[in-house]
Amino acid sequence: MGKNKDKGKGNKAGAAGKPSSVRELLRVGPGFNLGEVDPRLIVAGPDDKETARAEALALEAEVTGLQERLFAESKAGGKRRLLVVLQGMDTSGKGGAIKAIDRICEPVGLRMTSFGAPTKEELRHHYLWRIDKALPRAGSIGIFDRSHYEDVLIVRVHNLVPPDVWGARYDEINAWEKKLADGGLVFLKCMLHISREEQQQRLLDRLADPTKHWKYNPGDVDERQLWDQYQEAYQVALTNCSTDYAPWYVIPADRKWHRDWLLSRLVAETLREMDPQYPAMTFDVPTEIARVKAS
Ligand code: AMP
Ligand code: MG
Repeated sequence: MGKNKDKGKGNKAGAAGKPSSVRELLRVGPGFNLGEVDPRLIVAGPDDKETARAEALALEAEVTGLQERLFAESKAGGKRRLLVVLQGMDTSGKGGAIKAIDRICEPVGLRMTSFGAPTKEELRHHYLWRIDKALPRAGSIGIFDRSHYEDVLIVRVHNLVPPDVWGARYDEINAWEKKLADGGLVFLKCMLHISREEQQQRLLDRLADPTKHWKYNPGDVDERQLWDQYQEAYQVALTNCSTDYAPWYVIPADRKWHRDWLLSRLVAETLREMDPQYPAMTFDVPTEIARVKAS
């Protein structure tokens, strides 16, 4: 059994065969219920680690090519850029996910930003201030390890601001994302979805290995005890803020290699659809060849 594909509720791939688009499979749409997504599910693609790893890596040539075109496009004034937003419970694998993206991308043109508890200075500003500052430039790819969504997740669960304040943020985030999308920013918002049991195992693994102690934070156990409140906060954020211009994707993430396969596909599919273009030449090639030869 072990390696067989799990068939679970909400798996659009089902018995119908291979999906053409991972984005279609993972996208949060009407009637979405996080509680029905099985974090161990293999939604599509290989059901063994080696093949999945190899298939993900094989996307590198195509992805770096698209990345170069995106950059070239910006040199001619193109405004488009890609932002990968990673959210998930502690130990959900945001660090591993970043490595998976890094593996198929050119490091030049890739910028990663982690968002922890706001600093004193950040707290003096609007919560989107620090996010705005970290947005990728035209022609490049940004990765957010946590994001403005913390302002409706941990902030909501702990009521770090009054409910009417965090309650107003969903609409505010949608309006802000719409403006950015209109300005050429393409969102790829991914929630890494792990099970409560898997989180417990990963925390125990960290404690069992002295070289992983640095990753362990006793506070994670306190957050873990608020699991249901967090799932509820995710459910609301995912459904309120999955829009045409900035959809959410939920990635079953209990199996790291499947998580990485899905994420690599999401990045490749998104860049493919963006279809960045080399700019039109502003010079005549034969003339320039003659000039170079004569120089
Ligand atoms: P880590 O990702 O393990 O470095 O942890 C970062 C911590 O910062 C997590 O517990 C987040 O929930 C917390 N954090 C991130 N953004 C915010 C925010 N806007 N307000 C409060 N806590 C935050
Ligand atoms: Mg942590």
